[in-house]
Order: sequence, then structure tokens, then C-alpha cells
Amino acid sequence: MEKERIEIGWKLDNSYARLPKIFFSNLDPVPVHSPKLIIFNDSLATSLGLNGEALKSKYGVEVLAGNKIPQGALPIAEAYAGHQFGYFTMLGDGRALLLGEQMTPLDERVDIQLKGSGRTPYSRRGDGRATLGPMLREYIISEAMHALGIETTRSLAVVTTGELVIRENPQPGAILTRVASSHLRVGTFQYASKWGTTSELQVLADYTLHRHFPDIEADSNRYLLLLKEVIKRQAQLIAKWQLVGFIHGVMNTDNMALSGETIDYGPCAFMDTYDTSTVFSSIDSQGRYAYGNQAHIAGWNLARFAETLLPLLHKDQEQSIELAKAAVSDFTELFHYNWLAGMRAKLGMFNEEKEDEALIEDLLNMMQKYHADYTNTFCALTIDKLEDTVLFGTTEFDQWQALWQARLCRQQESKASSQKLMQSANPAIIPRNHRVEDALEAAANHQDYSVMEHLLDVLSNPYAYTPEQVDYATLPVVDSRRPYRTFCGT
Ligand code: AMP
Ligand code: MG
Repeated sequence: MEKERIEIGWKLDNSYARLPKIFFSNLDPVPVHSPKLIIFNDSLATSLGLNGEALKSKYGVEVLAGNKIPQGALPIAEAYAGHQFGYFTMLGDGRALLLGEQMTPLDERVDIQLKGSGRTPYSRRGDGRATLGPMLREYIISEAMHALGIETTRSLAVVTTGELVIRENPQPGAILTRVASSHLRVGTFQYASKWGTTSELQVLADYTLHRHFPDIEADSNRYLLLLKEVIKRQAQLIAKWQLVGFIHGVMNTDNMALSGETIDYGPCAFMDTYDTSTVFSSIDSQGRYAYGNQAHIAGWNLARFAETLLPLLHKDQEQSIELAKAAVSDFTELFHYNWLAGMRAKLGMFNEEKEDEALIEDLLNMMQKYHADYTNTFCALTIDKLEDTVLFGTTEFDQWQALWQARLCRQQESKASSQKLMQSANPAIIPRNHRVEDALEAAANHQDYSVMEHLLDVLSNPYAYTPEQVDYATLPVVDSRRPYRTFCGT
């Protein structure tokens, strides 16, 4: 046992557990009956300085299940609050524990968290557990996001617990090992602001600065810069979501990470047909978190973050409010800037022309009108197979295409360079809902993990445009009576 423990390569620190006591609770995972490894991320393990073979051993799987505590770990549940669908409430890690922070070979600090590891003081009425399907779903989509070049938490492993978890039907229990540059959220600051002292809030802000924004931690204006940097990262992140058609589904303030990583893959899904009102989450009946509303909601969440920082921004409250307002109001423009730059790349444009935005909007409007598939339309433009899109043959598209071609001719770069740029910006493959469902069905109901492994393999290189990916680009058979629905907290 001792030998294996050394071989895993843990280099854990516990800086979060050195914060004031109000920010966390110490506790161990609740042991599970008979852990079994379902999927493991070898390349991620290597990048963390962990020995994959040792982690996949019997002892390693006990660690991934929370039955054994790794050397140097100090498990804690983090406290946080959050606005859920606009309503403020106390939350916290109700079914997750931070084991510690692994110091990687590149000397980066990353959280190693077990999700589904049992009840905590923040569990409220929940059982502290997670089920296999949703944990595999998080694994697939988070890894797909990473491969798409979008900042995200990562997935190291999923194990089953050998216990049943009661949901609508009994389900196999599972634990996901989540890796994140931190789990600091807007909700962590809301918690500090509501229940902590100003000095505790300041310690949290200094900690966040040190961990994520070391370049500005010594600046006399550091709290305002913190706000601005968080806003900047969110503007970049949400633009990337929009550009690939990713819908997070539950953008509550507790699910917005200050690192700028995508976090909490509950009811998220990728859009097939382009429609700005697309919502997949079964509980989002008002469309608060619809595709076309994500930037607006991010701005709303950032305003909540700004409010928590008011006591630190300026001695004078009026001035604090003015500074916060100005910073938050920059978000819309920052988002738009990132989005427009990304859209130009998707259409092969290197330079900027005033009319670009209108050209982009015209294409999107056509896609909405003719129910075009978002990903495949951009793919068809990239590989010059226009006949593959439903827009082909319409007068509008003919006219648009002529304008687009003329636009590309006005830039210095060759057609081939444009095509290269488009290929790097338009994924040939996304985790399509029906493909993800097929993979989960085979895994959860038939213990057949090959479908998922194959899917993960093609998703790992989404800009490759291999012949194999063509098969994965086919659209689902749409049944308008039973639109695709996703669920959270399961
Ligand atoms: P989420 O929707 O995953 O962002 O979760 C919202 C809150 O509910 C967080 O505080 C979670 O820790 C908590 N939660 C979700 N599922 C459970 C569960 N099965 N048991 C305890 N807490 C849970
Ligand atoms: Mg959450």
C-alpha cells in the first residue's frame, strides 16, 4: 500500500484550508461500498504529475472513490452562496469535497475535487451523491470543451460506487474527480459579503488575486483591477461559448468561476439548429439561460460580483458604486469585441471592415429563418461544400455568398489562408446531444463503454476534419413533440 501511495505522485497543498474558517468545513468523504473505475484520463494525469497506472490500481481507485485519503490531502467542503434563477440562497459544496491542490510539474496549482462524495454540512436535503450518467456526461462535455480550446474544469476519472442512488429510478452511484484551476465562484464572494466581515472579504479577494491574477496583486488599485480582470475573462469565455453554440443551461452565480473556466456541467448542451431562443434545461421554463441570453446573464452575474467588492473599491461608497458600475458596463462591449473577432475568424476574415457585422448578422438571420444547423453551416462554408447547407439555392444565400466572397477578395491573404483560419475556428464535430445520449445509454444501461470512448476520441481533435468525423456530424432525427431536454443536480 505504502509503495503505491508514493508512486501516485501527489504533491498536494491546502491553501484554501488556510483561509478564515468561515469559508469551508473540514470533513472526509463518506466511504462507498465497492468502487470500480469506469473511465480515466491518462493524458490529464500525466500533465498533473500523477502516475496514471498507480491511480488505476486497486488502491488508486479507492482514492478516486473517497475511501482512502491521499497523502497531503486535507478534505474540505467549500462554503458559497448564489443567485439561483435570480433568487439568492446559501449553497456550498453539498456533494463535493476538495481533496487539496495538486502542484503540477509546471508548478501550477490545481484543485482536485471529488464530486458525489457524500453529504456535507451544505447538503441541505440532498443525499450528497451523484449518478453515473450525469458524471459521464460532465466528463464527455468538459473534455470536449477543452479540446475545442475553451477554458474549462477538467475530468480526471469517473468511478462507480457499487451503491444505488435514489432518483426518479434507482441509479448507479458515481464519483467524478474534477480538476479546476480553483473553485472560487461569484457565489463565494456573495457568501463573504453576506456573512463575513470586511476583513474576511478582503482576505478572500487577496487570495483570489494571488491565485489567479498575480500580476496585479501588488497594485494599489488591485480590487478594481480584480473586478476588471474577472469581467475580461468572462467576456472571452462567453464569446467562445456563443461561437461554438454551447448552452450552459444553469448560469447561476454559484456556477460562474472567477478563474474564467466553464464550470458545472449540469443541463448544458450544444445547439444543433441555430435558434437564439434555444433552451435545453427542463427547469428553465422562462428561457433565462437561453443561448441568446447568455451574455446578458453573464453581465447580470458580474454586477452581483461587483456589489460584493464595494467595500474594497473605495473608502467613499458613492465612488465605489461609480467605479463598479463603469467596470460592469464595459462587459457588453468586451463581449461583443471578442464575439466579433471570433465570428470574423469563422468566416475567414483577417482584417476588419465596418460592414462585417452586418454580413455576419445576415448569415445568422438566414440560419435562424431556414432552421440551419449551426455547426454544419460553418463547416460547409469552411470546406466549400455549400450544397450541404439548407440555405443553398435560396436567393438570399446566393446574394450573401457573393458579398462574402467579394469581402474575402478585398483582404491581402489568400483564399487558402482564409480556409485555414476557418478550419481553426469552426469545429467539424461537437458533442451532439444524440451522440452523447447514445454513449451514456450504452454505458449506464449495458456497461458498454466503447461508444463513449470512441466519441471521446473523435471529440479530442475537433478541428481535424477527418473523414471519420463526417459520420459524427450527422443530425439527429428531430421530433418536435419531444424536444431534447436536460436535467441538473442529478
Ligand atoms: P448545481 O445545480 O450542481 O450547481 O448545485 C446547486 C447546489 O445544490 C450546490 O450547492 C450543490 O452542492 C447542491 N447539490 C446538488 N445536488 C446535490 C445532492 N445530490 N446532494 C447534496 N447537494 C446537492
Ligand atoms: Mg453548482
